[in-house]
Amino acid sequence: MASKILLVEDSDSQLEFLREGLTKNGFEVETAKNGAEAYKKLFEYLPDLVLSDIMMPAIDGYQLCRLIKNKDETKKIPVILLTILDKKIDSFWGKKAGAQLFLSKSIDISELVRNINATIRRYPVSDEYKAGIAQQISTDNSAQSQLNIILNDLLLKSVFANEFRNLNDFMNYERILVEKLFSLLSSFVEYSVAGIYFASPDDFSENILYLDTLGRNLSKNLLSDIQYDFFRKLEEIKLIRDNKFEVVRILLGKEMDYTFTDMKSKIIIPLVFDKKLIGGICFYTRSDTDYASFRYFDIMISELLAIFKMKYQYTEKEFMSVLDGLTGLYNRRQFELGLEQEFNRTKRHPADFSLAILDIDFFKKVNDTYGHQYGDYVLKTVAELMKNSFRKTDLLYRYGGEELIMILPETNIEGATIPVQRLRRAIEEYNFDYNGVKAKVTASIGLTQNFGEFKTAADLLKSADEALYKAKESGRNRVVVHEGKDE
Ligand code: GH3
Ligand code: MG
Ligand code: MG
Repeated sequence: MASKILLVEDSDSQLEFLREGLTKNGFEVETAKNGAEAYKKLFEYLPDLVLSDIMMPAIDGYQLCRLIKNKDETKKIPVILLTILDKKIDSFWGKKAGAQLFLSKSIDISELVRNINATIRRYPVSDEYKAGIAQQISTDNSAQSQLNIILNDLLLKSVFANEFRNLNDFMNYERILVEKLFSLLSSFVEYSVAGIYFASPDDFSENILYLDTLGRNLSKNLLSDIQYDFFRKLEEIKLIRDNKFEVVRILLGKEMDYTFTDMKSKIIIPLVFDKKLIGGICFYTRSDTDYASFRYFDIMISELLAIFKMKYQYTEKEFMSVLDGLTGLYNRRQFELGLEQEFNRTKRHPADFSLAILDIDFFKKVNDTYGHQYGDYVLKTVAELMKNSFRKTDLLYRYGGEELIMILPETNIEGATIPVQRLRRAIEEYNFDYNGVKAKVTASIGLTQNFGEFKTAADLLKSADEALYKAKESGRNRVVVHEGKDE
């Protein structure tokens, strides 16, 4: 059976020339004089291949190609574009529009025929597929309105992409990133509660589900119901290791007057990259909202995926390396390993070691007042002051955002108090100055020692954390010592 070609060309002489050439070579040919006419004929004629000129009035060859390739029901029909201008940009656009082949119009007929045959052999269109195309007739909009949809989507995509790209700066400030993401999402998604979860490549990090309630209050029950619902869905996709998702942190809101059963609609979207779960988002709303049918959701998700991917890779890189990029201190993973090692070593060969956690006071305010670059500068400077306050054998780590940890081997709590107080004072006295902007900063420190009461390294860390908490509670800018007992 002869292969059917839909030939699209606005010049009569060209059209005749090509039709004759193709017919002579055994093809069945139907013609159209512009993209709109061709798109209409596509559903009636059911061609094996579309051969189209690029430069045509109204809807041109690129646009026709995009129309065909944009639709699942028609995209398998191969398209060859012809142009007089053998320019790189034409070929670039041709490929972007999804064309299988891009040929110069000056090509001779036998060469063209050879290319058409090769393309049809490579991209055969089955009869079932054609039957599917034929069914589209009645439901199909005109080429122009289809094209408008594509154009709107493209415009939306580039606007979305732009908005999301601005968030790249905040990749390592999770909280700021989350706040900005919520503010962006709330501008175009309807929700009562939205959630964001970033998976972490390491096993040490907590699983934090950030929730936004648009400033309203959130009840404990609703919180745990959403948490359960969301993570159950993520577990369903079976890509998660043995993670337990128990830690939930709420960004906004406290007590809410409605419950989970008031939520009429929801959508839970796992974000997967390279077969790994890299995060997830969810929306719950009390109104009737058919989330799945939102046309812009796909676009939004692909942009979100890019953000999550970058964040995941950023964390992965941080995690794999030994030093923290900003401060040059050992990173959190090294701390987990170092603490475990020191703890076990002193179990076998009893000796004292101390551990101190430092947290900068009102650091959020520093960021808010002077910008996060200034915050970074402060953090870096505090790390420098720390390096100057301790012996070379002491181990210094960046634990989290603005939390720094010191492990002092062979040092009891009394011995540790001296350099720790020295550090606290050095920070208090330091005149921070970045590009002429001056500020004063203080820090609070919790100090502990490997007392016998601690069964695990985690217990020891917890006692330092509790001491830090007391230092904050009792007025900040101070060192609080864990009152340990040896058992
Ligand atoms: P507190 O005295 O109770 O510690 O108050 P705080 O404002 O310091 O509160 P908290 O410790 O909870 O907040 C830490 C903030 O530090 C949150 C985050 O915006 C910011 N932060 C965390 N990591 C970084 C970082 O690497 N650079 C900058 N610039 N800011 C960070
Ligand atoms: Mg903190
Ligand atoms: Mg702080």
